[in-house]
Amino acid sequence: MNAQSQNTERLTAAQAETRIRRDEAARIATTARRGLPMPSADQLTVRAALALLPAGHAVASVARTMCREFGHDAPHGGIACGRCWEHAIRNDERVVIEFGLTARDEEPDPSYVDEVAVHRALNGEVLPLGENEQDEVIRRMNSEGLSPSAISEVTGLRYRTVRARLSALVPPVVGDVASGAHHAPQVA
Ligand SMILES: [Zn+2]
Repeated sequence: MNAQSQNTERLTAAQAETRIRRDEAARIATTARRGLPMPSADQLTVRAALALLPAGHAVASVARTMCREFGHDAPHGGIACGRCWEHAIRNDERVVIEFGLTARDEEPDPSYVDEVAVHRALNGEVLPLGENEQDEVIRRMNSEGLSPSAISEVTGLRYRTVRARLSALVPPVVGDVASGAHHAPQVA
């Protein structure tokens, strides 16, 4: 009896999004079909997974604004509730279909940084950040003089991750090279 729900139990946010997009596409294709597209148990699972989508997502600002305007309680640390993510993704999918955009056109700008999410994270809020936003938060905290361990604590990112990102982001200080002259070059 549990077989149905087990199919969607372990759903990643990305899988949930794909599912919503396919569902919306199918709904549009068969205009006669109306009402709830999915069994309610599945819908809850999908929405719970959608609520984990990160700040850098193409429709993150739409979902966030919608959720705020509806006065919903966004899940702890989330951008928007799953229902608003679903709305935003369905609307987006309709535009994609209407204008005949391909998946390639839809790919978000790889250099895009969600400033609102970065700002919230810098204010101490723990929320799911995309890689660009993580880098930006780490970079700004570092430039404000926070240590890697402090950054790790505030952002909830692993210490090793923070160190690795920092060494990729911050150009090495020339003075350090001279002081370590007798040592073999170390890879952080
Ligand atoms: Zn909402």
